[in-house]
Amino acid sequence: MTEITIRGAGIFGLSIAWACAERGARVQVVDPNGVGAGASGGIVGALAPHVPENWNAKKAFQFESLIAAKSFWQRVENIGGASSGYARLGRVQPIMDAASLELALMRTETAKDLWRGLAEWRVTKYEPEWAPVSPTGHWIIDTLTARINPICACRALEAALLTKGVKIIPESEDKGKVLWATGTHDLFHISEKLGKTFGRGVKGQAALFDLDRRHQPQVFADTLHFVPHADGTLAVGSTSERDYKTERSVDDHLEILIAKASRIMPDLASAQIITRWAALRPRTQSRTPIIGYHPVRTGAFIANGGFKIGFGMAPRLAMLLANLLLEERDEIPETFRPETYL
Ligand SMILES: Cc1cc2nc3c(=O)[nH]c(=O)nc-3n(C[C@H](O)[C@H](O)[C@H](O)COP(=O)(O)OP(=O)(O)OC[C@H]3O[C@@H](n4cnc5c(N)ncnc54)[C@H](O)[C@@H]3O)c2cc1C
Repeated sequence: MTEITIRGAGIFGLSIAWACAERGARVQVVDPNGVGAGASGGIVGALAPHVPENWNAKKAFQFESLIAAKSFWQRVENIGGASSGYARLGRVQPIMDAASLELALMRTETAKDLWRGLAEWRVTKYEPEWAPVSPTGHWIIDTLTARINPICACRALEAALLTKGVKIIPESEDKGKVLWATGTHDLFHISEKLGKTFGRGVKGQAALFDLDRRHQPQVFADTLHFVPHADGTLAVGSTSERDYKTERSVDDHLEILIAKASRIMPDLASAQIITRWAALRPRTQSRTPIIGYHPVRTGAFIANGGFKIGFGMAPRLAMLLANLLLEERDEIPETFRPETYL
């Protein structure tokens, strides 16, 4: 039986632990701060695709992962008994001008090929039940986008891991193969060791409203995600800040976002705000997730750089890492390998 130590109990560490435990490995997860203490303990949870054009390895990988998400989360929920909040209800986007309408119609065609009939991207002039005003009178509907409740997803994985005897503990020595999934902490460490920026944190702030739109598709408008959750809350995110004073505090950037969100979706203006939340997203210089052999910790493995789409990438990324750790089967896309950027 292969022994695995995973350092970091965010979405990457927990998903990989789950994929390995499912395949019979003896796994321990080590995190001094507990489950979902970093970027993964959040509130937004948009599992949204890249636009269906200019296809590349990252977009293809994310597409496969979004398709794999349903069975991945169903299995986690069935085994562990806790809800991740996953549902694939799609997404609505208003189309702002004639040029965007032309582009959206073109993407209707490219999606047929690139999304292989597994999901649809289309343009409608029939106003969706819950949607922002569209100046062109048209909206994009896609059926690939899903939602998840980030902190619930981490707890659902924790519950499923428990049934396999996997412990999540604050400290332990390395046992067997070691994988580092410690988010921004490791990106700063690697940068320091290499003497150049390998990755960093980009701060994000988001708000959770008491507004029940649980049966509606999520909305993406003017760079904001509006994500209705299964528990009757609704998340809006997020800011994107390269420069920040503190990692976890909320400030005026979020208040500006909330005001903008209320202009786009007026029913938010009268809804109570339940939570204001902030964290650092782990972003590599290449903006691509980094998986494979660790660039500075000899003999160890790495999964990092989820940046804005870590939850969307997790199911497929976990499978590839389990293949590598348990079977030495290396199917990692070239652009995801750390060595590409050294
Ligand atoms: C505001 C905001 C909104 C977002 N919205 C979305 C979204 O809608 N959709 C989406 O897909 N993604 C979203 N993301 C991005 C997503 O949250 C991240 O990509 C993802 O959480 C990264 O997961 P991770 O496991 O790599 O890192 P983290 O969740 O940061 O986990 C790293 C863990 O490592 C632990 N750790 C640190 N040092 C050590 C050590 N020495 N030993 C052991 N453990 C250690 C930490 O305690 C932490 O628990 C958002 C992020 C933010 C901040």
